[in-house]
Amino acid sequence: MSKKLDPVTQAIRIQTPRSSQQEHSTPLYVTSSFTFDEAETMRAAFADESDDNIYSRFSNPNVDEFVAKMCALEGAEAGFATSTGMAAIFSSMLPLLKQGDHVVCCSSVFGSTFTLVTKYLPRYGITTTLVPAGDNTAWEAAVQPNTKMVYLETPTNPQLEVIDLEWVGKFSKKHNLILNVDNCFATPLLQRPVDFGADLVVHSATKWIDGQGRVLGGIIVGRADLIKEIYLFCRNTGPSLSPFNAWILSKSLETLDVRMERHCANALKIAEALQSNPHVSWVKYPFLPSHPQYDIAKKQMKAGGGVFCLELKGGLEAGRKFLDALEMLSVTANLGDTRSIASHPASTTHSKLTDEQRLAVGITPGLIRISTGLEKAEDILADIEQALEKSAH
Ligand SMILES: *Cc1c(COP(=O)(O)O)cnc(C)c1O
Repeated sequence: MSKKLDPVTQAIRIQTPRSSQQEHSTPLYVTSSFTFDEAETMRAAFADESDDNIYSRFSNPNVDEFVAKMCALEGAEAGFATSTGMAAIFSSMLPLLKQGDHVVCCSSVFGSTFTLVTKYLPRYGITTTLVPAGDNTAWEAAVQPNTKMVYLETPTNPQLEVIDLEWVGKFSKKHNLILNVDNCFATPLLQRPVDFGADLVVHSATKWIDGQGRVLGGIIVGRADLIKEIYLFCRNTGPSLSPFNAWILSKSLETLDVRMERHCANALKIAEALQSNPHVSWVKYPFLPSHPQYDIAKKQMKAGGGVFCLELKGGLEAGRKFLDALEMLSVTANLGDTRSIASHPASTTHSKLTDEQRLAVGITPGLIRISTGLEKAEDILADIEQALEKSAH
């Protein structure tokens, strides 16, 4: 075909060459290493003169297929897949930073990312300045002569702040900084950071990419020269994705487009309906006009994503009662599943923090985060509404 296929089609049609069995679906290459018929072909592979697979810590056909599809979706030159999202985030930083370097990082990032940049990187002489999501002046003021990287996620978790990618892209270019974006919440179907100048995009594939709560996985895609450095680092340190998980994730990408369409439609419908609920003080979702960065969200995202949050009028106690009253929604520490999930950070994941510490990371006492699943919107809404009613008594 002469026409270049749409990335969504590529995510369905990119496939490892078929074996002699002519299988329709890619087989699983559960092998730790690959054999060579001659010393010369093995030498060439080790000398990087051929693309032959050597050892599954370096590359594997199932992993390569997943990476190729993700590059097509993100519009990226190259990529490397990892065992978890955190392995991707860690591996997107370590090989590109050295002692004395500095990172400008959004203050609302995933909890483990926060721990990585505030606790571990400083031990190796890499410092970070945390800046509030929408405060462009603070971002400018944070840049130092030794700044190397800008790191952020948008929309953020759990407050769903939206960061202007066009602005950050220009800002990073102006200061000659590597722009590294965690695109987990949006997925490449809703926004492509590379189109705004991101040099690297990282993902927890555990969330919407798998989308069915089965496996852990991660990926880094972006500029080929940076991915080369990351590949060499990973080849030697070993955070590689397993062939089995790559096989699952590659299959998942075939349905990502249709899944995200339904997740987003459900989330918008339910978030809209809950705005007038008497037990709720506010609902936050990027595609609701009441969202503080609604215009930015509309500019850079195709849809608002699968997550929305709300604040219960009854605060902490109502949050506990809400979780207990749910009949269908799952209460679990994950998001991005076919099944809708509710969480109440103040009484669960963040219960060890003080009220002040929680507020500093945007967690109010009655904050409920909903990861909207693929069930019928009416069923999800009905369960939330009955639990809201019970949470108030
Ligand atoms: C879950 C998550 C991660 C970490 O991914 P794991 O696969 O659990 O290691 C990173 N960033 C965001 C935004 C996440 O939601």
